[in-house]
Amino acid sequence: MSFLLYPFIFLFGLTIGSFLNSVIYRLEVKESAFKGRSYCPRCHHSLGWKDLIPLFSFLSLKGRCHYCQKPISWQYPLVEITTGLLFVFLAHYSIYDLGLMIYWLAIACFLIVIFVYDLKHYIIPDKIIYPAIIIVFAYWLLGNLEMLLNPLIAALLASSFFLTIVLVSKGKWMGLGDVKLAFFMGLFLGWPNILVALFLAFFFGAIIGIGLIAFSKKTLKSEVPFGPFLIIGTFVVLFFGENLINWYLNLFLL
Ligand SMILES: [Zn+2]
Repeated sequence: MSFLLYPFIFLFGLTIGSFLNSVIYRLEVKESAFKGRSYCPRCHHSLGWKDLIPLFSFLSLKGRCHYCQKPISWQYPLVEITTGLLFVFLAHYSIYDLGLMIYWLAIACFLIVIFVYDLKHYIIPDKIIYPAIIIVFAYWLLGNLEMLLNPLIAALLASSFFLTIVLVSKGKWMGLGDVKLAFFMGLFLGWPNILVALFLAFFFGAIIGIGLIAFSKKTLKSEVPFGPFLIIGTFVVLFFGENLINWYLNLFLL
């Protein structure tokens, strides 16, 4: 029965993804996300409703602005599709608990914005990470206060680990944004899931890093934003956390 809902959740995700694109753009040009009409970032022509339908406008305009014909960034449809698919996955895993579903979808929005912004600008905006941390705190405070101790310890351990890396490397390997994101992850995932998420982030980071160096896109000294890897680790653990931990423990027990 719930499967019938998924196309609607996907469309809802597309729409939210379109909003997240405008949040990212407005962070870039330092405008408020909630006021004013949307406009083309190239020619500044204000956009009509026909230009603002998520995904479908991009396809029907063949990826070009209706007014100036300049190409529209691939970021727009990619963020929309990713948000749509993530919403379906998150809804699937939380279909039994509406509160949890809303919480997860909200957190996903923050993480998508951080992912794209850090990838493009090597910055994790305070305006996004602080509200995300507050929402997770509020979730624990409203839900189950005794349960707060575990995620709080996970958050402090994860963020001190990253703070150590920042101090040792004098900010060359990681930035303070990663420390805040690690704090968020610990609070959101708890212990021991945070360990798995961090392990996965370093694992993916190493693979991509080696790949980039092999194809000489980057050198060992280049900056590569780490936030996107932390976020991928977070989602993988959210979806497969229990299974991953059981599998890992079984390796030692067998
Ligand atoms: Zn234009």
